[in-house]
Amino acid sequence: ENDLSHIVEADRAHVWHHLVQHRVFDARDPRIIVEGKGMSVWDQNGRQFLDALSGGVWTVNVGYGRESIANAVRDQLMKINYFAGSAGSIPGARFAERLISKMPGMSRVYYCNSGSEANEKAFKMVRQIAARRYGGKKHKILFRERDYHGTTITALSACGQPQRAEQYGPFTPGFVEVPHCLEYRKQWDVENYGERAADAIEEVILREGPDTVGAICLEPITAGGGVITPPEGYWQRVQEICRKYDVLLHIDEVVCGVGRTGKWFGYQNYGIEPDMVTMAKGVASGYAAIACLVTTEAVFDMFREDAADPMSYFRDISTFGGCTAGPAAALENMRIIEDEGLLENTQVMGARLMEGLQALKDKHAMVGDVRGAGLFAGAELVADRETREPLAEARVQAVIAACDAEGVLVGMTNRSLPGFNNTLCFSPALIATADDIDHILATVDGALTRVAAA
Ligand code: PMP
Repeated sequence: ENDLSHIVEADRAHVWHHLVQHRVFDARDPRIIVEGKGMSVWDQNGRQFLDALSGGVWTVNVGYGRESIANAVRDQLMKINYFAGSAGSIPGARFAERLISKMPGMSRVYYCNSGSEANEKAFKMVRQIAARRYGGKKHKILFRERDYHGTTITALSACGQPQRAEQYGPFTPGFVEVPHCLEYRKQWDVENYGERAADAIEEVILREGPDTVGAICLEPITAGGGVITPPEGYWQRVQEICRKYDVLLHIDEVVCGVGRTGKWFGYQNYGIEPDMVTMAKGVASGYAAIACLVTTEAVFDMFREDAADPMSYFRDISTFGGCTAGPAAALENMRIIEDEGLLENTQVMGARLMEGLQALKDKHAMVGDVRGAGLFAGAELVADRETREPLAEARVQAVIAACDAEGVLVGMTNRSLPGFNNTLCFSPALIATADDIDHILATVDGALTRVAAA
């Protein structure tokens, strides 16, 4: 009844996978993940792996096999599985209240199904505000080189990864790129790199005309584009620039949100006060599909002012946004993080991971730079320490394959994108123990040694 070899054949024959197939998996064994518990997953052959990626894409923050989340979803589905979002729901109201309590300064939660959709919704709000309050001005949205915001055409119009973006044009007009802030790949030779990189945003605003720019969308830490933690002074300047030119600050917390960096949200590490925040992956740790766009009351007010004229705004209603299973799972996910002290654990284990990666950098010439916050870390691999030439993709893949052979799943930033694919990624679940972190580090140490010798 459990013919897994047939399942593998069916998968190969009929499932169109989202990612370019992982070449390591392809070359060795087609892999189906059939089970998970805590930090571990098992494949169709019963092989166990320590998952240092939380589900491949930094999602399963509270770990696998959480019965209490499954029960919360089940209980909710048996009570009421669905009613269109124009009516409220108990888990929807409760989760919104809990979420807002973790986000001082924010006040309204708009439910969606994916990070891409939440970002789209934010972009659309900027356009609505421009159309109705600024007579069409302030419609432009800035995005940053190397950042990523999702799968839709407009999210890709805001994609700072050229090879990815180039395949999908023509794009939605009115999206303008600003330079990245990765000091390791310097664009300016200055002392205060963070402030300089932020000033580059002001230059773009002035070039485009401040009355045309409505918002800027930024990842708090660029994830897939290289695990880029912004340098000192960056965020403070960005905030000042946004206020100076009346530009809404939209922070994309799809990766960092809900605990990953040791704070509830990545932006809270930097004292930023955003106008809009989007989140998805970790909101319910993958137990249900849920994403949120959270805004300040001031942003909400820009829409409320026209309530006297009910036809003033085009209302696009998402069928499944805020479907009851999502907030029910998200509530229990948040309770687990609080009751098990997972933010504190993330800070302690994150520091251990970062120290260990620093030690690997001291030991291996191949490690050029290590970056991260909490249990979200990257190690940029280079062919040459002096020139900082990125390590060739095949060699990065070889490191990952060597870890895989030892039963540890680590990742890399965007596969197949030259210039973006040479950073090893680590994002273990927030329940990671010291033993888990040490085991991951020892495995990577061995893998680097073997690949360097090959
Ligand atoms: N923003 C960021 C920073 C992401 O990393 C991703 C997904 N990798 C998205 C948005 C898109 O989210 P989703 O896949 O849920 O649409």
